[in-house]
Amino acid sequence: MSDTSKLIEGRTGPWEIVLGLEVHAQVASNAKLFSGAAVGFGAGPNEQVSLVDAAMPGMLPVINRHCVEQAVKTGLGLKAQINLKSHFDRKNYFYPDLPQGYQISQYKHPIVGEGEVIVEHDDGSTFTVRIERLHLEQDAAKLLHDQDPGSTYVDLNRAGTALMEIVSMPDMRSSEEAAAYVKKLRTILVYLGTCDGDMEKGNLRADVNVSVCRPGGYEKFRETGSFSHLGTRCEIKNVNSYRYIQAAIEYEARRQIEILEDGGKIDQETRLFDPTKNETRSMRSKEEAHDYRYFPDPDLLPLDLDPAWVKAIEATLPELPDAKKARLQSQYGLTAYDAQVLITEQARADFYEAAAKGRDAKLTANWVTNDLAARLTAAGLEITESPISPAAIAELVQIIEEGVISSKIAKDVFERMWAGEGAASAIVEQQGLKQVSDTGELEAIIDRLIAENPGQAAQVKEKPQAIGWFVGQIMKATGGRANPGVINQMLKAKLG
Ligand code: ADP
Ligand code: MG
Repeated sequence: MSDTSKLIEGRTGPWEIVLGLEVHAQVASNAKLFSGAAVGFGAGPNEQVSLVDAAMPGMLPVINRHCVEQAVKTGLGLKAQINLKSHFDRKNYFYPDLPQGYQISQYKHPIVGEGEVIVEHDDGSTFTVRIERLHLEQDAAKLLHDQDPGSTYVDLNRAGTALMEIVSMPDMRSSEEAAAYVKKLRTILVYLGTCDGDMEKGNLRADVNVSVCRPGGYEKFRETGSFSHLGTRCEIKNVNSYRYIQAAIEYEARRQIEILEDGGKIDQETRLFDPTKNETRSMRSKEEAHDYRYFPDPDLLPLDLDPAWVKAIEATLPELPDAKKARLQSQYGLTAYDAQVLITEQARADFYEAAAKGRDAKLTANWVTNDLAARLTAAGLEITESPISPAAIAELVQIIEEGVISSKIAKDVFERMWAGEGAASAIVEQQGLKQVSDTGELEAIIDRLIAENPGQAAQVKEKPQAIGWFVGQIMKATGGRANPGVINQMLKAKLG
């Protein structure tokens, strides 16, 4: 285990941050967890509500098999223990946004147990976040306070939607690590197809637990397994962007350090992040330890999974990000960095593999991750919407490889491809962009230049770098189409 903590300097000495995340991921499913009502974004208020979601008397929940399958699939993707026996509990609380008056969740016996996620730092090194559990639960509805000055409205569309709560161990040591963890988790979920990962729509959001302690506390926690070596945590609810996650942690760690350095103690509490003020503020105290009176939901049978069914789900798992990265590196000889950029999105890796068939792997990776990626981002397009196909990139790479065009001209050709002017070779033909490797044509230009510029030619004999001036002139004369390798060779032969 490498020490990746990022110490924060206080007035009284250094502190380390310890972070554990509870990520809520909306299950990709057409229907809710316990009812047949549709799940979707953009429906009108209360259009996707069944009598079960509205908690009409006498209505009974019925488990959605697909949601269970999605949770199992996610557990397998997190290399986690699948618990063949689990059950649903009622979590009782005052929920203004849940008509049942309780949330159906899993408490003591979740469907998925311990797993792990390997996360990349920016520099390519990795760290491991242990997963404590994953359980299924219902989402609440949405209260709308801004529709009417005198009343609050409720939209029940979200009520009863299936969520996976993925609880990590407190294994993150800086705000960057927390953001990197959520990014990696999101990538895995999207690969699995178990959550669409759309953070803007709130389909993936995190409760961030923050504590601080003196250096060495985390190491002791790992050695002994005892949480007593860590500081008291505060939980920041429902943070839904990487930027906010980082900002909330930075603010919260500072706040706690100031309290501790002033001789105070941290109250375990639930806090909210206010992105406009960039600060967290108290929502409710955990000291008042609300007793949720969890008990098994009498309306639902325990979940009892058939091992053969779990095996069958396992057989449907796609190649996951870590495996894909390793394969791209070994199969195409790519660097860890290039492979990482490509696998961040499954579609990007697929695009790359389609384009790289039989082509220079590194060159193809450059075109996909640099020029094309930049163009797509600027246009707000996904790679699946790319106006340039993998085959078209492959053709561009091929004519560069074959020396038909220089890499400089290739940029121009690419821009024309993007503008819809056609395939690379057609553009080269039409625009007369073919690289000039014809020694006869080049020789005439070189001879003329030497004859017209005897001073420059003499200089090359003393200072070999001065050859660059001739290269520049030849490029000018050919509109950048001269083959640099060929002209360098010819110049050396004539002047060197
Ligand atoms: P709760 O439901 O009270 O939030 P959970 O067990 O669901 O409790 O989640 C607790 C979360 O807090 C976990 O992600 C865990 O890793 C994290 N956590 C526990 N102790 C600490 C600590 N001292 N510092 C930071 N995070 C912590
Ligand atoms: Mg929790």
